[in-house]
Amino acid sequence: MSAHDDLPKLLDDCVHCGFCLPTCPTYVLWGEEMDSPRGRIHLMQQHVDGEPLSGPMVEHFDACLGCMACVTSCPSGVQYDRLIEMTRADVEREHERPLKEKAIREMVFQLFPYRRRLRALRGPLRAYQKSGLERLVRRSGVLERISPSVAAMERLTPPLGKARRLPELVAARGERRATVGMLTGCVQGEFFPGVNAATARVLALEGCDVVIPKDQGCCGALSLHSGREDEARAFARRTVETFESVDVIVVNSAGCGSAMKDYRTLLADDPAWARRAEAVAAKTRDFAEFLVDLGPRAKRSPLPVTVAYHDACHLAHAQGVRSQPRALLAGIPELTVREIAEPDICCGSAGTYNLFQPAAAGELGDRKAVNVDATGAELLVAANPGCSMQIATALRRRGAGIAIAHTAQVLDASLRGLGRDTVVARRS
Ligand code: SF4
Ligand code: SF4
Repeated sequence: MSAHDDLPKLLDDCVHCGFCLPTCPTYVLWGEEMDSPRGRIHLMQQHVDGEPLSGPMVEHFDACLGCMACVTSCPSGVQYDRLIEMTRADVEREHERPLKEKAIREMVFQLFPYRRRLRALRGPLRAYQKSGLERLVRRSGVLERISPSVAAMERLTPPLGKARRLPELVAARGERRATVGMLTGCVQGEFFPGVNAATARVLALEGCDVVIPKDQGCCGALSLHSGREDEARAFARRTVETFESVDVIVVNSAGCGSAMKDYRTLLADDPAWARRAEAVAAKTRDFAEFLVDLGPRAKRSPLPVTVAYHDACHLAHAQGVRSQPRALLAGIPELTVREIAEPDICCGSAGTYNLFQPAAAGELGDRKAVNVDATGAELLVAANPGCSMQIATALRRRGAGIAIAHTAQVLDASLRGLGRDTVVARRS
């Protein structure tokens, strides 16, 4: 029996009450039943009953962000996260996508989960950003004409600084309280090296030996959330092998943490790996979740800054981590945390969503940027690289110069007494 045999039973859990509809970003945008969780569940049922996957059916599944807002709002406990993952795998197996779409998807999946390939791209991208070519290309609209997905990729790339490599061990400051493994991530590692450096520093300042395996690979999140199950399993096995010797694995990217906590389901049918995967899933902790459990020890210096905290879907809905990042921020003297309206509505990043569905993602990004701007905060704090890139792009489009940082970078600035300028200098 495979995990996919559960699909009909999981579909039966839905009583079609519609409570999830107002929390679904695509339903909020378009008001179409088939672009709501309930509508998509209806389409899944049709497929289970023998209806082949048609182009329009696939469009409704593709338009789903996989944000899981419907999971946390459903009173019947419908596991829509599992339903959409299985359905996306069916789509990848059974549906032939148009050639151009296939080529773009292949390019994305042959690039983003591979750090060496991303690293090789950093140099040319930095030169492109620094030479002024970026402005010319954007103004010409040429990429948009080639492919809206390629244009989105270009637009979302953050300004790249110098590459930074972390050592394999960052030793605890003072008496050691824990030894943790740290996942550096693909996009996080190559596009946001400062976030990883801050994460390791904060963990060490809080008394942790931080083990950062050099040969770690992709956790498989992008593949898992896109229906590429075999690829996701291969990445997961490698990650399990890399981290099973440590007691705790700290992850600072919401999408990666959520995928790793899901390894128990992903490898459940593999007798050689199921128990090992379950053990690694059980010791995976989000950065904020881990630090709140550990308790503060390092001295916090004042950081007089007003921040808006953004709930990444894969942190809030998928991992239930909402209070911990807020608690860490609130523990910094003189820092004020403001809430963003519509916190449950996705920013449109959603893994590869903003690349493959750039128009819908743009609408959601603009909606989020309006809500962020309305807080009057000087700094947006988000714990997922995808969200940071997506909201930064939307804020730029809006002309709002709000800085963006990861929770780890804010904490790092306070623990090291660096002052507010170090965090508010990172303008969107
Ligand atoms: S998914 Fe849950 S909330 Fe949505 S219609 Fe089904 S039972 Fe109701
Ligand atoms: S995962 Fe998000 S976009 Fe997809 S149906 Fe649920 S709420 Fe809507």
